[in-house]
Amino acid sequence: MNRQALLSASLSPTVSLTFKVPWVDDSGKVHVNLGYRIQFNNAIGPYKGGLRFHPSVNLSILKFLGFEQIFKNSLTTLPMGGGKGGSDFDPKGKSNAEIMRFCQSFMLELWKMIGPETDVPAGDIGVGGREIGFMYGMYKKLTREHTGVLTGKGINWGGSLIRPEATGFGAVYFAHEMLKTKNQDFKGKTVAVSGFGNVAWGAVQKVTELGGKVVTISGPDGYIYDPDGISGEKIHYMLELRSSNQDIVKPYSYEFPNAQFHQGKRPWEVKCDVALPCATQNELGKEDALTLIKNGVMCVAEGANMPSTPEAIEAFQEHKVMFAPGKAVNAGGVATSGLEMSQNSMKLNWATEEVDMRLHQIMKSIHEQCAKYGTQPDGYINYVKGANVAGFLKVANAMLDQGVL
Ligand code: NDP
Repeated sequence: MNRQALLSASLSPTVSLTFKVPWVDDSGKVHVNLGYRIQFNNAIGPYKGGLRFHPSVNLSILKFLGFEQIFKNSLTTLPMGGGKGGSDFDPKGKSNAEIMRFCQSFMLELWKMIGPETDVPAGDIGVGGREIGFMYGMYKKLTREHTGVLTGKGINWGGSLIRPEATGFGAVYFAHEMLKTKNQDFKGKTVAVSGFGNVAWGAVQKVTELGGKVVTISGPDGYIYDPDGISGEKIHYMLELRSSNQDIVKPYSYEFPNAQFHQGKRPWEVKCDVALPCATQNELGKEDALTLIKNGVMCVAEGANMPSTPEAIEAFQEHKVMFAPGKAVNAGGVATSGLEMSQNSMKLNWATEEVDMRLHQIMKSIHEQCAKYGTQPDGYINYVKGANVAGFLKVANAMLDQGVL
C-alpha cells in the first residue's frame, strides 16, 4: 500500500452509524434524539472510545474525537482501536427515570454493533457510572451475556479500581517524567491546577503525594488561590463541593479563610513551577501562556482535552517551556479502561496497587515514546510532535501489515 492510500484509508471511519433514540419523559411526552457511533480504526484492537451525551453532539464533532482517540489509544501500548459515539440528548435537569429510559432506548439500537471483542464504549461528558449502568443492564438483557462490553462499570459488577482518579494520577505521573528530564521532581514545587472535576481531583491528590503544593483549583466562575496548599481534608471538602452539584468553587474560600476566590479569573496568573490545566477546552490562551512564562513556569501538562489554544502552545514551545498535550498526558484514563477490559476477560479484579502500578508503567512508556520521536537536536522535547508520530506509526504499521481492507 502506498503512503497516500494508507492516509486516505485512515481518514475515513470504518463505520459511521446515526440512529434515532425515541424516549418518553415523566409527563408522557415523546422525544426523539439522534444517537451516533463512529467505529474509526481497529488495526491494533477493538474499537474503543467514549459516549458523549450533550446537546452540542453531532456527527462531525464525534468524527474528530474518534480520529484523535485512535492515536491516544495507540500511545497507551494497549491493544485498543479508536471510536467515539453519543447523542445530542441533554442529561442536565432530567430525572433518574428519564435518564434510564433514554439509555435503554439508546442501547436498543447500539447493541447490534458492539461487543467485548468488537467495540467497547466508555463514558465521556454526560455519561458517568449511572448511565453506563443503565446501558449495561439493557445490553445484558438483550444478549443474555455478562461481558466487558462497556468500561467505567460499577466496582461491584466488573469495574476497575481507581478508574475515576486514573486520568489525574496518570497526568501527574507523566508530568513527573517530564520533570525528571531536567533532574527535577515534584518535591517543593508550586503547582497550579484548573477545574475541580474528576481529572483535577486525581491530579491534586497525586501531586500532594509526590511532595508538591497545589495552590489553585477553578470552576467556570473563577479560581481559588490557597497559599497553604490544597491537600488532606481540603481535597475531601473539594469533593463534597463537587458532589453537591455546585458549579462554583467560591464556598472553599469561606471554609478555609487563607484561601481567596478570584471571580471571573483563571489560575494562570498565579506564580507556579508546574501548570496542569484539567478543566476544559481553550481555557489557556496566549496571554495566559505569556503570564505563566513571565512567572517562571517550567512545565505545562494538559490533563484536559485541548485546554491550550494553538497560540499558547506556540508560546510555550518558542520559550522552550516543557509542554505536553492531552493526547499523551491524559491517556491514563483510557489506559485504565483498557486494564478494566483485561480484568473482565480474565474474570479477575486487580487490587488498587496493581492497577496503579500498571498505570504508572504505561505513563512512563508514553513519555518514552514521546521523547523518542519528539527530541530535537538542541535537546528540547517537542511532545506534540512526539505523541503524534508515535501514535500514528503504530497504527499505520499495523494497517500496512494487514493489507487493503
Ligand atoms: P468534570 O466534568 O468532572 O470536571 C470538569 C470541571 O471543570 C467541572 O468542575 C467544571 O465545572 C469545571 N469547568 C468547566 N468549565 C470550566 C472553565 N471554563 N473554567 C474552569 N473550570 C471549568 O470533567 P473531567 O474532570 O472528567 O474532565 C475534564 C477534562 O478532561 C475534559 O476536557 C475531558 O474531556 C478530559 N478528560 C477526562 C477524562 C476522564 O477520565 N475523566 C479522560 C481524558 C480526558 P461545571 O461542572 O460547573 O461545568
